[in-house]
Amino acid sequence: MNVKMKYPAFTAIVLLLALWLWKISTSRSFQFAGELIADVPLSDSLIALTFDDGPSPNHTDEVLAILHRYNVQATFFVTGREVEAYPEESRRIVAAGHQLGNHSYSHQRMVLKRSSFIVNELDRTDHAIRNAGYQGEIYFRPPYCKKLFLLPWILKQRNQVSITWDIEPESFADVRGSALKIVDHIKKKVHPGSIILLHVMYDSNAESRRSLPVVIENLQKKGYQFVTVNQLIKSSQENGV
Ligand SMILES: [Zn+2]
Repeated sequence: MNVKMKYPAFTAIVLLLALWLWKISTSRSFQFAGELIADVPLSDSLIALTFDDGPSPNHTDEVLAILHRYNVQATFFVTGREVEAYPEESRRIVAAGHQLGNHSYSHQRMVLKRSSFIVNELDRTDHAIRNAGYQGEIYFRPPYCKKLFLLPWILKQRNQVSITWDIEPESFADVRGSALKIVDHIKKKVHPGSIILLHVMYDSNAESRRSLPVVIENLQKKGYQFVTVNQLIKSSQENGV
């Protein structure tokens, strides 16, 4: 092969490698180190509702009231910054029996960051979550699902499990703007052991909040029971699945 041919081939390989790494960095089901859970193999009809971001002063109580009405336990992946800013809302989530997870301190993409930055983000948020009164295991969920080498390696050293999801209606442009379409999307995709992701904490999440009671009613009618991610994992371990 002459030199002229070599460079395009080399460029193509580098581009393909970059594309592959980019895909891996946003994968819901794979990371290079440590444990990552996107859903749980289960025969029981248990599923987990998870909410990212927040807590917020405007919508936390509204969401808690809906969960209370249907006797649903959920998992809130919160940012350390917002837990510190809204300690009362954070404590109310814990007091209602829900699970808190670490969603970083400042909600930045955790790739191309120094190790000291990542450790600081994890530590400050774990600390804020403990201050809110939460005592269970603290899982981690990466902002934008972004992770590559360093973050998973650090999480592995800390024995901190990554939790992603297998149902994400808001990621589809033709679904996220309509509560009914969100309901429909979840209904079609749900299976025992599913982990559902919704965003409900900000003003811009009105359709997702509107969908919440209908999602819960629909799935409870189908025989599903909503539990925290912790309970979901525990149930699969107890059943030896
Ligand atoms: Zn987020």
